[in-house]
Amino acid sequence: AAYLERKSDHLSVISQMSAGIAHEIKNPLTVIKGFLQIGEANPEMQKEYQSVVLKEVERMETIVQDFLFLVKPGSKTEKKEVDVSEIISYTLNLMKKDTEDNDLSLSYKNASEDSILFTDEKRLKQVLLNLVKNAVEAVGEKGEIVVETYRKEDSLAIVVRDDGIGIPEEALIHIGEPFYTTKEKGTGLGVMVTKKIVDDLGGSIHYESEEEKGTTVTVTLPGNP
Ligand code: ADP
Ligand code: MG
Repeated sequence: AAYLERKSDHLSVISQMSAGIAHEIKNPLTVIKGFLQIGEANPEMQKEYQSVVLKEVERMETIVQDFLFLVKPGSKTEKKEVDVSEIISYTLNLMKKDTEDNDLSLSYKNASEDSILFTDEKRLKQVLLNLVKNAVEAVGEKGEIVVETYRKEDSLAIVVRDDGIGIPEEALIHIGEPFYTTKEKGTGLGVMVTKKIVDDLGGSIHYESEEEKGTTVTVTLPGNP
């Protein structure tokens, strides 16, 4: 009975999410349709509108990808020896390229002599990208983001700290709920995906934040085969 109950719980979350996804996709579709119609009537503006359409299509792509990942049952993790510091540097460099116009400091502090984990590289990359992206979005035009790692016995703690807008205490409980977003162009699926991955990898995630001061996210991952 407990199993059935859990299963139907899962189904209702999926059906709720499906309704949310349909809604989330409808918005960019409306924008795309509008821009294509204007473009049809004004061919000289087509080039200008192309980038808007591309942005909206990319947004839909992310939503669908995240949704499929969240509802696909039993996608297996593929663990191997991974150097976490390499993945962090890779992610920070990626974000630096994306934010060249802003006055951001993105740095990595390695407080542990070894940062090797037996884990899933692809998913760890996704976690870091989601966390650093949120940090970058929280600081806006100017700010500091520091990623730090340190050993905790067999586990590795990965800390992503920003001095951005922070999260009000009453909002903290909603972080990671499907479609919870405070951003105009947010999807509210990033933290949910991050939490699922961390869970699948046997780790834990913790948010600490102060409004207008910044946010610290700590992910702790086990590293044994
Ligand atoms: P999205 O980024 O699309 O809004 P997420 O699931 O990644 O969706 O994040 C959900 C919400 O959590 C964000 O809209 C924001 O309000 C809050 N949040 C997450 N990380 C941070 C952070 N580092 N600083 C401030 N707010 C954050
Ligand atoms: Mg996000």
